[in-house]
Amino acid sequence: MVALIGFGVTLFIGMEIEKTQKRLLASELKANMERWISVMEFSTEKEVTLARTLVSVFEDSPSIDLQQFDQLSINAIKLYPDLDALFWIPMVAPEQRPAVEKAMRGVNPGFFFKMYAGPAGFIPSVPKPLYHPVVYLNGSESSQQYLGWDMGGFGELGSMFADLGKVEDQVSMRFLPSIDDLLNPGNARPRLQMLLATPLNKAVVLPDGKTQAEQGYLVFLVNFSLIFTYFSDIAGGDLLDIAVTMGSGAGKKDVFAVAPKSGNLQADYTVKSAFSNRATSTWEVTLIPTDEYFATQAKSVKIWAFATGVAITLSLAIYLFAIQRRTAIVQELVEQRTDELQKANHELDRLSRTDYLTGVANRRYFEEKLESEWSRAARGKHAITLLMIDVDYFKTYNDRYGHIEGDYCLQQVSRALTVSTKRPADMVARFGGEEFIVLLPETDEGSMALAERCRKKVEELEIVHEDSDVSDFVTISVGVATLTPAGKQPSRALVKAADDALYQAKEQGRNRVRAG
Ligand code: GH3
Ligand code: MG
Ligand code: MG
Repeated sequence: MVALIGFGVTLFIGMEIEKTQKRLLASELKANMERWISVMEFSTEKEVTLARTLVSVFEDSPSIDLQQFDQLSINAIKLYPDLDALFWIPMVAPEQRPAVEKAMRGVNPGFFFKMYAGPAGFIPSVPKPLYHPVVYLNGSESSQQYLGWDMGGFGELGSMFADLGKVEDQVSMRFLPSIDDLLNPGNARPRLQMLLATPLNKAVVLPDGKTQAEQGYLVFLVNFSLIFTYFSDIAGGDLLDIAVTMGSGAGKKDVFAVAPKSGNLQADYTVKSAFSNRATSTWEVTLIPTDEYFATQAKSVKIWAFATGVAITLSLAIYLFAIQRRTAIVQELVEQRTDELQKANHELDRLSRTDYLTGVANRRYFEEKLESEWSRAARGKHAITLLMIDVDYFKTYNDRYGHIEGDYCLQQVSRALTVSTKRPADMVARFGGEEFIVLLPETDEGSMALAERCRKKVEELEIVHEDSDVSDFVTISVGVATLTPAGKQPSRALVKAADDALYQAKEQGRNRVRAG
């Protein structure tokens, strides 16, 4: 009798444990997914900003020829490691096709307007009312295969270009399978690339000197592997049904989907989250776990449940023990996951604290840090120093050398500032545009010397600046403020004092350090 009751209880507990586990695992999956989405949103925001910057560079020239395209895009790709390739895609009317193909063959002998025809590979593009071929391209080895590809004919992308045609100054974004995966459909787990496109109403000068298209698109191929690394990194990631969709109701479209490797879908435990791509639309990410996903995730617990089951049939007394253990197991699971989540969180924190162009701390992080250092200084009654730094004549630098060179200059300046600081607690941050901050906790004496070292290091970079009135090279002005927080004085006071000192440095001729 005891054995029978024990068996029933075991069965009941077993089922309860399983349900609890599944709910727990599904909620962890959702938490993971939301973290992943935050990272994606952060990265896409960065990419969209970058796309807009590069577009402004191209907008500066009335027309684009192959040489200019090469020069600009090679620099851009060097500067932004996430960028995989840059394409120029004009719109070509049917009557222009032969001339464009001929002109392009002058540079790339094998060039033709091509479309992708499944297993047959590439075939010449079928006649269409309008073509969107990739004519100029710079970037990674694998992206070379896009040359000649008629993007307007490529499913989702076709509609992307149609949308873009209607909206001025718009960056549109699509994920697409990587070209290797398209050409090798057998790849176990497809990868994605992100394509950002923006209309550009400039003429494209073909190699034969003729100007062929008044309209076209600048397309950025972003090496965006996050979606894959994320899901393949989590244990059992290939046992999930992953779908990314955009729109809703009848207008709902697939952006991307991967079927699980094996297992039956457990629709009761579906998790969903919205993802803003910061360009054209909001997407929805849906993950459906399979029974195999749960099985692999909960394996260690299953073994325990079996062992306990045997024990319970022997004695009801162990039932009490089991209840205790059940709590312990849930806790153990949570602890184990917490560890994994902490790692993911750590990466997210790092990203959200970093200025994407220069890699130093961003303004948000600076403000957080200033607050905590300010309170610490108030408690310890010690001094804290802030250097407010501004690049001299940076507007004319951009005007003369272009925005991309300007960005590169900011990267070098930030590096020079970083190597000028010595103590681990010192922080270099980008305050905005061409302004930087150096925060020196517990520093009073020696701060002028450090400021001077920063100024000198930048000057020693010898970045030629022919339109500067103060030097042959790029220079900075530095405002120094040191305060020991008094009473309820806000940290703003320190920023204001450093800013006033910077103003003095500018007034007195630039390329100098002034104390407030
Ligand atoms: P001053 O010596 O008085 O500081 O003159 P300035 O030209 O440096 O100052 P101003 O504030 O007039 O111009 C700052 C310029 O910095 C304007 C803007 O084009 C440029 N800028 C701001 N942010 C960025 C950026 O992220 N990249 C690039 N390349 N330029 C930027
Ligand atoms: Mg400024
Ligand atoms: Mg300036």
